[in-house]
Amino acid sequence: MNQQETNSKNAQARLRVRSLPTYVPGARASDLSQIAKLSSNENPFPPLPGINEKIAEKLVEINRYPDMSVADLAQVLADFLTAELRESDSQATAIQVENLVFGTGSVAVLAHIVQAFCEAGDEVIYPWRSFEAYPIVVDIAGAEKVQVPLDEQLRADVKAIANAVTKETKVILLCTPNNPTGGSVEHQDVLWLLENVPAQVAVVIDEAYVEFVQGQDKVRSLELLRTYPNVIILRTFSKAYGLAGLRVGYAVANTEIASSLRATATPFGVSSIAQIAAIESLGAASELIARVAELIDQRALVLAELRAQGWSVTSSQANFVWLELGEQAVRFAEFCRENQVLVRPFAGDGVRISIGNAAENQKFLQLSKQWLSNGNVA
Ligand SMILES: *Cc1c(COP(=O)(O)O)cnc(C)c1O
Repeated sequence: MNQQETNSKNAQARLRVRSLPTYVPGARASDLSQIAKLSSNENPFPPLPGINEKIAEKLVEINRYPDMSVADLAQVLADFLTAELRESDSQATAIQVENLVFGTGSVAVLAHIVQAFCEAGDEVIYPWRSFEAYPIVVDIAGAEKVQVPLDEQLRADVKAIANAVTKETKVILLCTPNNPTGGSVEHQDVLWLLENVPAQVAVVIDEAYVEFVQGQDKVRSLELLRTYPNVIILRTFSKAYGLAGLRVGYAVANTEIASSLRATATPFGVSSIAQIAAIESLGAASELIARVAELIDQRALVLAELRAQGWSVTSSQANFVWLELGEQAVRFAEFCRENQVLVRPFAGDGVRISIGNAAENQKFLQLSKQWLSNGNVA
């Protein structure tokens, strides 16, 4: 049956769902040996040492369901996060497994948060431009989108977000560093926000790129949980840990919220392979740190070279950079694609370029230079 034959008498998804914007994935590469794939903020490195062997051991068990409670990963992660928390607050109470909720990527956990907190007509505030999954998850939940422009450094504008709060606000999504622009807020900004929004509003701090942040006053999100029970932290194994293909992310929240979120989760969502790979990755701290350091160095190099070429580019605290190309965004991405570099355009706005390995970044920098020497403006 084709489209013409459907009519309103047939079963249909809700109108709201039928008119959802589609998530545009970063361009895919069929042959990665020829193409630099800088379009999805993935990690250019292969899995951390030991991961592939662990996955291979688990393969013989894939006729069984995974551990629905994700118990082993939860324990390893709780200890890992407690260590992070105690770096800045040595007296802090430990993060417990009861504070953790897992999902098939942090995007799934995010959807569960919005569904758990919102009914029709409730408002969700988030910065814009930001992660393109936000409007989709809010629409699916039947809630209202409230988009607040970024500040001049292209990061979430906490003052403007606080001003946008109404009686209907249930959730604030604070993406920092912000995807796709790379700007990040500081700890004092998040503290200010939490002091200036009502405690019944859930404040989700989406830290998908937290491992790449440097600076004096980095957000110490785990510390905030003790004083602000409305904080929910979202993190993922997809970016710095390089497990994007396995789909595992998590939230950290107070035990009451965490238990509500667990109740909304897709049963057995996180596969046994993803669980073992995440456990193993958390144990490979020194390799992880070395790789992140390498990507941060490459980020600095790419930013410096772009500026030297004549581009005006804001700094980034994530594993990507942003070029505000406006109406030229799509044309620039096409130019890159024709030259075997995939980047991610946002039509009419800008282009996001993920930091790849050194050779890939050089390949991109040649194109950004060529673009300007072809007479285009930065
Ligand atoms: C990539 C990303 C995520 C999560 O990705 P998952 O692979 O679903 O864990 C979440 N938030 C932002 C802002 C991202 O860029």
